[in-house]
This record gives sequence, C-alpha cells and structure tokens, in this order.
Amino acid sequence: MLFIVLFVSLLPYLAQCSCPTIISRSEWDARSPKSVKNLAQNLPPFVVVHHTDGQPCSSLSSCKSLVKSIQNYHMDIKGWHDIAYNFLIGGDGNVYEGRGWGIKGSHITRYNSKSIGICVIGSFQNEKPPRKQLETLKNLISCAKDNGYVQSNYHLIGHRQGSQTTCPGKKLFDELKTWPNFDSNVRP
Ligand SMILES: [Zn+2]
Repeated sequence: MLFIVLFVSLLPYLAQCSCPTIISRSEWDARSPKSVKNLAQNLPPFVVVHHTDGQPCSSLSSCKSLVKSIQNYHMDIKGWHDIAYNFLIGGDGNVYEGRGWGIKGSHITRYNSKSIGICVIGSFQNEKPPRKQLETLKNLISCAKDNGYVQSNYHLIGHRQGSQTTCPGKKLFDELKTWPNFDSNVRP
C-alpha cells in the first residue's frame, strides 16, 4: 500500500522529462547583462536554431572560454545588452546558459520576443554537428517542451527562415528539417 502511494505521488515527477546538464552563467564566468527583458509571451511559440559560424570547441574549458568570448563580442562590438542567445550547445555535449528561459534574446529580427534562441557552436554549412552535440540540442528542445518553457505545439525553425542569412548552415538546417515540429512554412 505504502509503495503504491509513493509511486502515485512520484508520477508527476517521473512524467517530466529530464533536462540536459546546463552550465550556468556563473560557471562560465558570464558578465552581468546591461539589461534584461522578458519574452512577450510566457510560453514562446518558436524555437530558433543558429550556428556560430566560427570555430568549434570540444572540451568544457575550451567551450567555456569560447562562450565568454562570444559574450564579449556581442556586448563590446555589437553593442547588445548580453550574449545574443538563450542557450548555446558546445561540441563537448554541454548546454551553456545564455540569457536563459523566459528572457528576450537578440538573435533574430521579428522573432526575438516570441522565441527561444539556441546556438550550436561551430560552422555547419558543409558538415553536420557531431552526434553528441545534436543529441544535446534535441534533448534541450524536449526539455523546453516537457517543462513548459515553450508551447507544446512549438514551431522549430532555422535562423535563415526569419532573416536573410545562411545560418544555421545548410547541413544543420537539413538535419532540423527531419525533426519533430519543424515548420517549413516560415519564410523570411
Ligand atoms: Zn543565426
């Protein structure tokens, strides 16, 4: 009897999908944002995927310092208030917290206030990301859906569907086309 009660009370937790490990801002030594704005909707309808179109990283320490240099570039050269994305995925298979859940990013014109922006670190025009990195991206999107950080019927798009850009690279974009909730109807 006690076992049944315990099992039933644990059900809501078991039903929740576990999220991949997220390296927090303090863990990668992020600077404080100049300002923070919430998303227009509590549950954003879009998940937007990017690539950095730059060098990859494959270890915790190299990914941390790369994420830090991306934040410096976005704040000091681009003049943005923080690193552009909500999350970044390293070639080491870790998620790096950018602006985080519920915060408006500056990664895609017209969709910033209604999307979560995830950037896959590396350049994926001519090659696909390593499998470990793709798995983490997939897990983070499932985590967002299962834990109510995006709408359950969210639309998955690549940056190029919202702006004139090749981002997230042809090979990564071709991969996204085969994933659940990919929305081919969104055009720039
Ligand atoms: Zn992009």
